[in-house]
Amino acid sequence: MDVIERLESNVRSYCRSFPVVFDRASGPYVYDAAGRRYLDFFCGAGALNYGHNEPGMKRALLDYLERDGVVHALDMTTRAKTEFLERLDQIVLAPRGLSYRMQFTGPTGANAVEAALKLARKATGRSNIVAFTNAYHGLSLGALAVTANSSYRHESFVGRVNASFVPFDGYLGPDLNTVRILERLLEDSSSGVDRPAAVIVETIQAEGGINVASAEWLRQLEAVCRRFGVLLIVDDIQMGCGRTGTFFSFETSGIRPDMVVLSKSISGIGLPMALLLIRPDLDVWAPGEHTGTFRGNNAAFVTAAAALRFWETPDLAQNIATSGSALVAALDGLRLAHPQLGIRIRGRGLVYGVETTEPAVTEQLARKCFEQGLIVELCGGSRKVLKLLPPLTVTAEVMDAATGILAASLAAVVDGQHLSVSL
Ligand code: PMP
Repeated sequence: MDVIERLESNVRSYCRSFPVVFDRASGPYVYDAAGRRYLDFFCGAGALNYGHNEPGMKRALLDYLERDGVVHALDMTTRAKTEFLERLDQIVLAPRGLSYRMQFTGPTGANAVEAALKLARKATGRSNIVAFTNAYHGLSLGALAVTANSSYRHESFVGRVNASFVPFDGYLGPDLNTVRILERLLEDSSSGVDRPAAVIVETIQAEGGINVASAEWLRQLEAVCRRFGVLLIVDDIQMGCGRTGTFFSFETSGIRPDMVVLSKSISGIGLPMALLLIRPDLDVWAPGEHTGTFRGNNAAFVTAAAALRFWETPDLAQNIATSGSALVAALDGLRLAHPQLGIRIRGRGLVYGVETTEPAVTEQLARKCFEQGLIVELCGGSRKVLKLLPPLTVTAEVMDAATGILAASLAAVVDGQHLSVSL
């Protein structure tokens, strides 16, 4: 810890919420250097949907390295890459009737968002992008321009341009359809909102507080995009790869995005990788026009290809549904046990947000859970929402243990045992 404080930049963040030295990890568990075990219901902010060091992916990676498989190859053709591309097409895209070209960008989600925005601008010849209140798309300058939270948007950071924000679903209460606002702004040439190249949207805003867009709202958003010739980009970086119960988070709504951004859990084991799915006729890049050194992380291709076996059978989706119901039942139990907290629960699949009318309680709950061995994080503009991202492979036993810790921690916080702990 002393080394970190002395040598690592002040910008570090998660290590402040979880101030221990982590060492090993397996499945839903992470162990600190002293050997203490924690249950991980944060899962690398969505990068570890299959848990830590999933044995099938680990084996594939070890075998690949053992036989001196190419690790780094710029974007040259490798067996690992072609195998991944074919498997993604056969196992995920084709069965869903989707046809996309795939672009490997630099390995961060933010870089894939940059690529999506650049390509939308190039394809349409327009520069404006519509994004939503509470959106999070990454912190490089183009992605930052469509990220809403003011804590990331210091005025001295240049490049916050060519973006118009409109209210997300539910932002103005349940009775006001915010897509209608967007439609009106686009209809009116004096609205001040230039016709955009694209709309970029998260179907569930994760960093923004687990705000769930309804399927109907997404369908209406798609219709407005079609009406005005605006491209629809779904940022599925955190909600994709099964988090909401289906491989893509937009599947249940039936919309067909023009581009889909994936990262985080696409490599399956947490290796850096980002992928942009592009409607084939929009692939107007010139060769090398959006390039980068680390677009060919073959170790990630190997684990990503191995991860896709989870989508060859209905078992994982079934586990997400069963475990999700168990989690909701447990959260409902907390709501009923503590009516004074006005607990609200939002989410789908295996992503849930818990909000109370007492933000201090929510914050202390996250802290208390960690003390009790459960890793959970806060999200939302003012970090008022407890975010639960269990591994999609979670067992009933692990879910029981985690919800037990949640219940005991909340009871302890409510009892005032820890209200005096300074945060
Ligand atoms: N979009 C979404 C929806 C995200 O959740 C994130 C990461 N939290 C990003 C983009 C940015 O990804 P990265 O941190 O890998 O740049």
